[in-house]
Amino acid sequence: MGKVTIIKNGIVFNAVNKAFTKKDVYVKDDEIIAEEDIEETDLLTEWDAKGSYVAPGFIDMHVHVFENFAQIGINADKIGINQGVTTVVDAGSTGYKDYAQFKDKIINQHTTEILSLLNVSATGLVEGLDELSAPEKLMSERAWETIKASELAIVGLKARMSQSVVGNQGIRPLEHARKLADQTDTPIMVHIGSPPPPLNEILPLLKNGDIVTHAFHGKKGGILDEDGALIPEAHEALERGVKFDVGHGTSSFSYQTIKRFKENYSYPFTISTDVYEKNFEQPVGSLMDTISKLLAVGYDLEDLIESVTILPARTLSLMNYGSLEPGKKADITMFHIEKKDRELIDSHGEVMKVNQRLIPQTTWKNGKIVYQRG
Ligand SMILES: [Zn+2]
Repeated sequence: MGKVTIIKNGIVFNAVNKAFTKKDVYVKDDEIIAEEDIEETDLLTEWDAKGSYVAPGFIDMHVHVFENFAQIGINADKIGINQGVTTVVDAGSTGYKDYAQFKDKIINQHTTEILSLLNVSATGLVEGLDELSAPEKLMSERAWETIKASELAIVGLKARMSQSVVGNQGIRPLEHARKLADQTDTPIMVHIGSPPPPLNEILPLLKNGDIVTHAFHGKKGGILDEDGALIPEAHEALERGVKFDVGHGTSSFSYQTIKRFKENYSYPFTISTDVYEKNFEQPVGSLMDTISKLLAVGYDLEDLIESVTILPARTLSLMNYGSLEPGKKADITMFHIEKKDRELIDSHGEVMKVNQRLIPQTTWKNGKIVYQRG
């Protein structure tokens, strides 16, 4: 005997065939089940989702939530469940030195599920934002092996490879990250920005399953050449299975870049915010705002929902996430689409007229309602 909630009348996203259909969703305890799995003794209740889109819980794979400890951070539930995001991945705010604090003060204190891409620097963003500027700042192989084996919330490594972070270290911090990642067979998320090191040194070090965040920034030395074609190293990286990720952030998302990319290429990518307190209001907004911006650029809603559900789940090997198939976790994001003219900016302050905006309605985590719009 158990409790089953039947979510009725919603427009449900099927992550496997990437389509919306009107159907019921069955939640038993913390799991999605099939209709035929309902037992006679189960207690049934109905939930009316009329007018809502019903999607697998959104995953934002690049945020900063080490609030009050790292140099940048924001409350995890404010940008998590309250925005329809059931799982966030903190991308490198903490290194191994402060991970115990991060677990105690952040992971264990919020309803939003918090995973970590551990900074390849031992100190992460706690002692400054030039965390890879000297060899002694790097995490040792032994420290990595130990923490990776014991902490399930650590899903990979983060290496910020731009001039202000690496100083005169060039490509060396990434070579070190490569060694660590190969040791444990985990992905590396690489932040790209202003060179050095240049992309033609960074990208060849990445393998199938690694992630390039800030992929669509508008700075010099990005993934596209002057004609809007992918530079050869970016094209080769995508072909061997390296994943591109938005990572909007303060200075890393450009309408111009994404429009040119869209004109010429159809490689799927993941959508993340790189959100923290100072960029939350402007220019980033929530994950749903970031999706709304890409909707205005011309992407289909189906592609965009895939980019915050099954794609990040696969990229991070989160097997029970990102889909509403029977057997998966009952993490559910319900949203509306508000049809109203608005303006949303990118990281360069460029304005986009947006006439459809995703608005979070109800968020379910592990089968329970954890946020409802007032
Ligand atoms: Zn970031």
